[in-house]
Amino acid sequence: MSAVPASVPVSDRVHLIPGAVNAVLVVDGRRALAIDSGQGKDGGRRVRKAAEALGVELAALLTTHAHADHFGGHAYLLRQRRVPVLAPPVEAELMRAPILEPAYLFHGARPPVELTGAWLQAEACPVDRIVEAGPLEVEGFQVRLHDVSGHALRQLAVEVDDVLVAADAVFGGSVLAKYPVPFGQDAAGQRAAALWVGDHAARVAIPGHGEPAAPAELGAATVAALDRVEGAVLAAADGVDGGEVLARVAAALGVADPDLPRWHLNFTTVHAHLGALRAAGRLVARFEGHRLLWGAP
Ligand SMILES: [Zn+2]
Repeated sequence: MSAVPASVPVSDRVHLIPGAVNAVLVVDGRRALAIDSGQGKDGGRRVRKAAEALGVELAALLTTHAHADHFGGHAYLLRQRRVPVLAPPVEAELMRAPILEPAYLFHGARPPVELTGAWLQAEACPVDRIVEAGPLEVEGFQVRLHDVSGHALRQLAVEVDDVLVAADAVFGGSVLAKYPVPFGQDAAGQRAAALWVGDHAARVAIPGHGEPAAPAELGAATVAALDRVEGAVLAAADGVDGGEVLARVAAALGVADPDLPRWHLNFTTVHAHLGALRAAGRLVARFEGHRLLWGAP
């Protein structure tokens, strides 16, 4: 017997498969709807083992967003049993062509090998149904989907009874302490989504990374982290380029020394904030020669 349970019940129907990335099984009788599948084959294997331990068969795979660490186990699971795969629009395209994630992180160019591991580039998988916010019925399961886009260009939270599977709309406190710059692609959307989760009436929310907690607690911690990043970006942008903004933000917030993947994640996130601040009229971008400089209007 392993000391770590394959899954932990969060409610009658909702079972959390704990790990670096949280996946969830919604159980009904002898069948289960999986929400996300974790990173790579190992993630898929954990979902399979959790289903076996509960004595249930997978009926469908619902994807919150197409970051490789959330859908990387899909291909493995589909080889065991071909079930319908659901995903939000835009994200579905990334699942069909997973090179797009490391490519967008590398400014659209062919990505360096360090960006193509299982963390940032998943195995491709089909998507059978595009889903958006609203009630969802799939294979007899009924859940409610909510738009929490921002961390990813499109992202869904899943409400099941009194549990909100919030995906990466919010992060646990321990995760935020370790990674003070929460990855985001649309900073304004990300903040709105974290505020929305914080106001949700669910008994408990399950973040994509970290421990389940009250929605208000996760929402407040995430909004505070996003506000710290935004403040650091604003303070740094005094006529310097995006790389210098990132270096200053990292120094201000105590971000650990980068490797190639983390640097690109943080660079993209800083640009999500720069873009949002520019759209809000709080920063301007101007050229000096071929340098793109960010500063006050
Ligand atoms: Zn994510």
